Amino acid sequence: MSLTNARPVPSAEPARKVEAARKVEPARRTRKAETELGRKRRARRMARILAETHPDAHCELDHGNALQLAVATILSAQCTDKRVNEVTPKLFARYPTAADYAGADRAELEQLIKPTGFFRNKTTSLINLGQALVERYDGEVPGRLTDLVTLPGIGRKTANVILGNAFDVPGITVDTHFQRLVRRWEWTDETDPVKIEHAIGALIEKRDWTMLSHRVIFHGRRVCHARKPACGACTLAAACPAYGTGPTDPLAAKLLKGPRARDLAAAAGADPDLVPAQAAAADVP
Ligand code: SF4
Repeated sequence: MSLTNARPVPSAEPARKVEAARKVEPARRTRKAETELGRKRRARRMARILAETHPDAHCELDHGNALQLAVATILSAQCTDKRVNEVTPKLFARYPTAADYAGADRAELEQLIKPTGFFRNKTTSLINLGQALVERYDGEVPGRLTDLVTLPGIGRKTANVILGNAFDVPGITVDTHFQRLVRRWEWTDETDPVKIEHAIGALIEKRDWTMLSHRVIFHGRRVCHARKPACGACTLAAACPAYGTGPTDPLAAKLLKGPRARDLAAAAGADPDLVPAQAAAADVP
């Protein structure tokens, strides 16, 4: 850095704060006067930034086919994806088909999925799912929303996960992170998940629905946390009406999580060296 500037900057931090304040101004302006078209344009701009920010976004539940994804999604209720992924290799090897779940020994199945919590209810769902698939769909997971939502343990959210990731049918996954973020970003003020799904579906092109879901969820897990979002190290700051909900100085980089935390800091103009080593290894919720 040059030391010969005519107007000295006392330290890097105030300069960065000024930059952050400058960055956030457009988002604040949008808050009162935003039209429907303006909201759509802003949402699509944010979606493009999310695509650049999270090129690694994907379904974080390990699976090799639609049945495995259905099972993993049922297990993911009230449980981290990481924990589910620890349990499923053994489970999938032991129960490769819907008929295997239909005829499962309850005690054995319970034991295998116990680490995911609520294992008795989840065991019931898996056995009932296997039976329904065998009885009504020749043991195959159907590829239509209207069929999927009739299956035990499969709600609309799970059905959209399965459609988007196992059948390549665009789907919006309104999980807890997705709900929180799209409301925080003022993409919608709906609270009902189905209404949120329709509202976001009207803003974003259908072909992008599945990947948008992954990217929003990635952002919620790694950057835009519920209690203390990393606003000062967030690539969406300039377009986000909630900028300032969390700390806005570059030290916010300490709040980033996941193996790409340093990359995320750099992409937002924050110093990657501020990201603690353990953040990269930390579990994302
Ligand atoms: S971290 Fe802050 S700036 Fe980024 S999306 Fe969340 S609220 Fe907006």
